[in-house]
Amino acid sequence: MDLSNENVIHIKKEGIEYIQFRKLLEYSDTVIHAFTIGINNDYKIPLYNSKQNVLIPEQIEKNKNSYRKICNALGIEYNNIVKTNQVHKDLVKEVTGKINKNEPDFSEQVYDKTDGLLTNKKNIAICATNADCIVLMMYDRNKKVIANVHSGWKGTVQKIAIKTIDKMQEIYNCNPKDIICCISPSIRKCHFEVDEDVKNMFEDTFKNIDDAIQKKQEKWNIDTVKINIDMLKEKGLREENIIDSRICTVCNSDVIHSYRGSKHKNGLEMGIIELKDNQIERK
Ligand SMILES: [Zn+2]
Repeated sequence: MDLSNENVIHIKKEGIEYIQFRKLLEYSDTVIHAFTIGINNDYKIPLYNSKQNVLIPEQIEKNKNSYRKICNALGIEYNNIVKTNQVHKDLVKEVTGKINKNEPDFSEQVYDKTDGLLTNKKNIAICATNADCIVLMMYDRNKKVIANVHSGWKGTVQKIAIKTIDKMQEIYNCNPKDIICCISPSIRKCHFEVDEDVKNMFEDTFKNIDDAIQKKQEKWNIDTVKINIDMLKEKGLREENIIDSRICTVCNSDVIHSYRGSKHKNGLEMGIIELKDNQIERK
């Protein structure tokens, strides 16, 4: 199965699969990125304050290996990883440096209750995981700032996309017109079915979202991708800089970790982005 389309390219190498966004590849002299694909690798890491702690040590080691493999394939130092716990809230934090330079920051206390990271520092690989939720990977090509954000339906309702852009403007003086935002594979309108209470939360939060909601008997299908795109446009991102992978995780749950679609125990996929340090020689 090849998930390539006009926005993404599907790569398979060294026991690992991932997609890359064609638009971000235009800036591959300054930024490295990927979004993983495949249920043979899992990027779930137990973090502080998280139900994920049920993983057994062998599984943790195996999952760390998945991180090692994707880092290898991309030419990223495994130790550069910074990954937060994610709690479906709207907190976005700046990463100014690694806490422990000698191993990945699967950062517990420092980035507790954090769903988005941003930085302008090189040699920091910010990661966000998902299984149906949206991961938004952003790059300001002028200010050379990156962000990586977990925006599930709860994060969407809390407008974490807008809060991320606000932070990029606040901290780095980014101009939204320079920001490219890539939208990971996620559950799409075809499969994101909710009850009335959730539908009401969306209607109470957003204006003019009739075309993102479709009623089917007593359920509602919601297009959270469109809602995120509309928020990004509202913040001033250019339409041509908002790049959707156009991949539904549930439709493709035989090849992508999906919470709703998977009959396997649910693992996670992962988006990774790092500003390139051209001082370092890469393979
Ligand atoms: Zn679908």
